[in-house]
Amino acid sequence: MAHHDSTGKPFTVAIVGGGIGGLALAIGLRHQGISVQIYEAAPAFAEIGAGIAFGPNAISAMYLIDPAIRDAFRRLATKNGFDEEDETWINFRSGFGEPTLIAKVQTGDQEKTGLSSVHRARFLDELASLIPKDIAHFGKRLLSFQEEASGKLTLVFEDGETAFADVLVGADGVRSRVRQLLLGKESVLDGLSFTGKYAYRGLIAMDKAREAVGDELAMNSQMYLGKDGHVLTYPIDHGKTMNVVAFKNKEDGPWEHDHWVLKSKGEDMRRDFANWGTPVRSVLDLMVDADMWALFDMLPAPTYYKGNVVLVGDAAHASTPHQGAGAGQALEDAFILSMLLGDKKTRCAGDIPAAFRAYDAIRRPRSQKVVSTSRTAGATYALQGEARDNLDEVGEELLQRYKWIWDEDMQVQAEHARALLGQ
Ligand SMILES: Cc1cc2nc3c(=O)[nH]c(=O)nc-3n(C[C@H](O)[C@H](O)[C@H](O)COP(=O)(O)OP(=O)(O)OC[C@H]3O[C@@H](n4cnc5c(N)ncnc54)[C@H](O)[C@@H]3O)c2cc1C
Repeated sequence: MAHHDSTGKPFTVAIVGGGIGGLALAIGLRHQGISVQIYEAAPAFAEIGAGIAFGPNAISAMYLIDPAIRDAFRRLATKNGFDEEDETWINFRSGFGEPTLIAKVQTGDQEKTGLSSVHRARFLDELASLIPKDIAHFGKRLLSFQEEASGKLTLVFEDGETAFADVLVGADGVRSRVRQLLLGKESVLDGLSFTGKYAYRGLIAMDKAREAVGDELAMNSQMYLGKDGHVLTYPIDHGKTMNVVAFKNKEDGPWEHDHWVLKSKGEDMRRDFANWGTPVRSVLDLMVDADMWALFDMLPAPTYYKGNVVLVGDAAHASTPHQGAGAGQALEDAFILSMLLGDKKTRCAGDIPAAFRAYDAIRRPRSQKVVSTSRTAGATYALQGEARDNLDEVGEELLQRYKWIWDEDMQVQAEHARALLGQ
């Protein structure tokens, strides 16, 4: 699909943060003929070497933002290894004793995508290749912004440089500076909460994983559930690599470290899962050192915008990863926002708040529901709460849990947003 180099709109957009959300939005805005610049704190666009999975709603949003994103995704997407597991998202199994199947969760009737996972860093590279190099500015950590009498925004960066734009988008992740400036310092600090879990993440060569747990468990996505944690494994890199995330409940209260990612020794992880079943222990034995990630999410923001400043992705609604849906919500944000700014009713900078009002009304309830149901999912996976000894009931819940996220028709969501723009 052709990209536009000249703007069709008399306003400019500055995106702060070049993760999946910021880059997808930049691609979407350019696709709409809108002039955009990206300011990223890091020296380059970068993601960690881990897997990420996308549901049907997210893949549909990719296509609607710009078909080139879905094409790039499809080049990288890894499905389950067995043909009969093609429509399976995750096989939920008992983490103790035999790995008995509790529920086989499959993606919906419309989009039988099954598991579609990619290597994060490779996917981000593909997104970065879809924007011109000269719109990306690195080493630009936003400190503050101010509104000038003309209505233009001045962005001030840590290195003392400034930039100007009509619109500022905070795509700066879970510790968002833009959110802090928009909602007030107190509310960002109060708005983040430790969810009582941490996770070890790592990658294993698939041939070693197959030797350790056999082809069926290694080559297809599995989630092992236990009393105080859950362990997720799925293939990435077209089946060459197994992505592992081992979640553990932290039994002793809050997260007391300043850092959310800690270096940890493999032996700590193995101690945490010492009494688990053989497949889990065999997989974790193959992970040498695994970083430990504290899992935080956000309390609901009262708004995602003020004036010409708006939040997308984790900056708006950081979630636990328990439904594999956080980045999918960032893609939905990017689609709806680029569509609203590109709409013919958004003619000039003065029309921006109306577009943001529609974005906020459509995106806030759904993305915040993902945050809250994701927390509940984490509790279910760790068999917390009432009736968790009944694995049939757990299985029933798992079969229902994802439908409302995946079955969303993104075109209908866009129509609702567009209708609000007209009011
Ligand atoms: C363990 C785990 C597993 C997950 N698995 C999945 C999954 O399978 N599927 C899924 O959909 N989601 C998943 N998620 C959620 C997903 O990772 C996030 O929702 C997504 O990465 C958010 O993207 P983002 O672009 O909003 O933010 P980020 O990726 O955090 O990007 C923010 C960017 O802003 C930059 N930045 C920060 N501050 C500033 C500043 N002041 N100035 C300039 N730049 C700044 C950062 O350097 C960064 O590049 C998972 C999350 C975790 C923790």
